Amino acid sequence: MPALSAYIYMKEYMETGMKDRKGEPLPAWKKGLLTAALGLLAVTLAAGVRSGRTGDGGRRELAAPAYGERASEGAVPAGEEAESPRSRTSGESRESKRIALTFDDGPHPVYTERLLDGLAERGVKATFFLLGCNIEGNEEIVRRIAEEGHLIGNHTWYHVDITTLTQEEACAEIQDTSRKITEITGQPVEYVRPPFGNWNRELECEVMMIPIFWSVDTLDWSTRNADRLVDQVVSEAEENDIILMHDSYDSTVKAALRIVDLLQAEGYEFVTADELILE
Ligand SMILES: [Zn+2]
Repeated sequence: MPALSAYIYMKEYMETGMKDRKGEPLPAWKKGLLTAALGLLAVTLAAGVRSGRTGDGGRRELAAPAYGERASEGAVPAGEEAESPRSRTSGESRESKRIALTFDDGPHPVYTERLLDGLAERGVKATFFLLGCNIEGNEEIVRRIAEEGHLIGNHTWYHVDITTLTQEEACAEIQDTSRKITEITGQPVEYVRPPFGNWNRELECEVMMIPIFWSVDTLDWSTRNADRLVDQVVSEAEENDIILMHDSYDSTVKAALRIVDLLQAEGYEFVTADELILE
């Protein structure tokens, strides 16, 4: 600020006694003029400080049109306006509103493949928690599940409640099933869905297994009605839900594929369950 520099220079000059270049004191009229000039500068500086404050106000005024722009952005048709708060706070997540379909108790010699066909047509990935005792004779189905990009998890060998078994029995249920799956797919099994949702974390052999539970239980094994399943899931489903079904029934396969169609139309992306629990 030049006025401030001039003020400081002049003030220092006056404090040193106001001498001319030869070191002679200045005549009184020059001293008076300089003092007056210094006073004028002080007034100018004070005004500058005030205008600085006004400048802040100016920036606030400049900021005002930005509010105006936001307000005008908000002036959208009512339907869009209702959605705008959600899309504004999670605009990116809206594009990736994710949900996971999980199928337990397979592989089934008929319904699992029918389901795989429908999922492939729709470009959808799902998660299959397999029973060791159902694998023999269905190895090609297991291989296909893995090859088509779905996630395979462990559902024990005989569909047992792990918490009621001895350590040795429980470990065998888990490890035998994982070993069988890995023999076929060549991939390690990292996830387990404990039957009945009962999981015993104390088992040493389960340390490396990550349990995946569910947030929507369709009870498809008791409903056996595709229409009711579709209505139930589509009305209940929310972002990040893990939906529990069983690829053991014709009604479940039909319902699952219709659920995919309806929820995809609502903007949902179907992902494997590990993607939802690891975030
Ligand atoms: Zn089960």
